[in-house]
Amino acid sequence: MNSIQRVTGTQDFFPEDLAKVDYVTRIFKEVCEVHDYHQYDTPTFEYTRLFKRGIGETTDIVNKEMFTFIPRQDGGEEESITLKPEGTASIVRLYNQYSLNNKKPPLKLFYHIPCFRNERNQKGRFKEFHQFGIEVFGSDSATVDAEVIILAYRFFEKLGIVDKIELEINSVGSFESRKAYNEKLREFLRPNFDNLCETCKDRFEKNPMRIIDCKEHNCQQITKNAPLMIDNLYEDEKKHFEKLKKLLDIANVKYKVNPYIVRGLDYYTKTAFEFISKDIGSQATVCGGGRYDGLVAELGGPDVTGIGFGLGRERLIMMLDELGKMPTFETKYDLYIATLGEDADFKSFEIVNNLRQKGIVCDKDHVGKSLKAQMKYADDKNANYTLMLGDNEIASGKAMLKNMKTSEQQEVNLSTFEEDFIKLVKA
Ligand code: ATP
Ligand code: MG
Repeated sequence: MNSIQRVTGTQDFFPEDLAKVDYVTRIFKEVCEVHDYHQYDTPTFEYTRLFKRGIGETTDIVNKEMFTFIPRQDGGEEESITLKPEGTASIVRLYNQYSLNNKKPPLKLFYHIPCFRNERNQKGRFKEFHQFGIEVFGSDSATVDAEVIILAYRFFEKLGIVDKIELEINSVGSFESRKAYNEKLREFLRPNFDNLCETCKDRFEKNPMRIIDCKEHNCQQITKNAPLMIDNLYEDEKKHFEKLKKLLDIANVKYKVNPYIVRGLDYYTKTAFEFISKDIGSQATVCGGGRYDGLVAELGGPDVTGIGFGLGRERLIMMLDELGKMPTFETKYDLYIATLGEDADFKSFEIVNNLRQKGIVCDKDHVGKSLKAQMKYADDKNANYTLMLGDNEIASGKAMLKNMKTSEQQEVNLSTFEEDFIKLVKA
């Protein structure tokens, strides 16, 4: 039988991959903490209806990308559940379930989660991937919109790639202004309805604004001179957007207004934004977010506003790799003990065991390699020092310690070796 392979669109992680994950996670947490965001986590799966309502029935995710199944249960209800395709709906569920609106607003939180979408896999597009995300509940101030965008911007800055990413912002209005706008847009599109792609024909009634965002050539030709949401905002929405732009200017954050950004979620209101990489090819959106003032209530909660973003970890790491901005991580032994003979095997085991308890990274041979192979191994592992132990050394109580950088050797006393070595590396 051929050996079993992983499912296409999933990933295995080697230590060197996880070192990268640790690195970006640490920087993300640092940026979140300095902005006073705190980490929450939610289960890997939720009831399907949470996403149907939370992301919106007309979105691609709900229509064709969700991993949904009915778990077998012994008696009791058998309700359909879905692997989390994104983070916001679950966080809003949690917010409502624990009445977090009772906490003094705003509530600022972040998460780091696996996401599951049944998509055709391509570079930068997986069936299981990961998102960093943040959400803020309970403030409709544009200062919060700015803060959310700036947090992502500072993250990219700390990673050294901010000048390789473009920030695009837009305002998608409110339910009311969008309703009026959608009517206007339908009027404009109606004469060309038959030439729209099948997906857009479907969008025409349900969510015509998404036609603006269609990547099909025909649809793009049709919408070229279409009225834009940004020119049809209500007065307070316009003011909100103008304020956001001023705040980004104050923070020295560079952006471009792109009136064609619509974004997936049906519940987005006012601010929508994307961070787009110029370097990772067609799956170029690294981070996307926006305000969703109607979502908390839509999911059965109070009338509380929200805003957040989701940031794809795989695409981010891909960018850092391609731009040469990923630091190198190497394991480093403080000490490797090369041994020869049974007595040395025992002695080296004892030393390694004691030193590890003092935080010294060290190891010995476990597979009976030749002395030469052991020295090579120590070199490959970036050992700072190597101690050579054989029968003679055990008998005389003295051995040679080699500094692997300088190749200098010094004689050491085995009876006091552990304390002496600790002093040496801590010096
Ligand atoms: P796209 O336009 O690439 O399909 P999206 O609009 O579906 O993205 P969001 O739902 O906004 O993406 O998710 C936020 C981020 O998560 C994306 O900007 C991207 O970096 C990442 N992401 C989304 N889908 C995938 C996937 N299938 N594999 C890897 N990363 C993904
Ligand atoms: Mg998508």
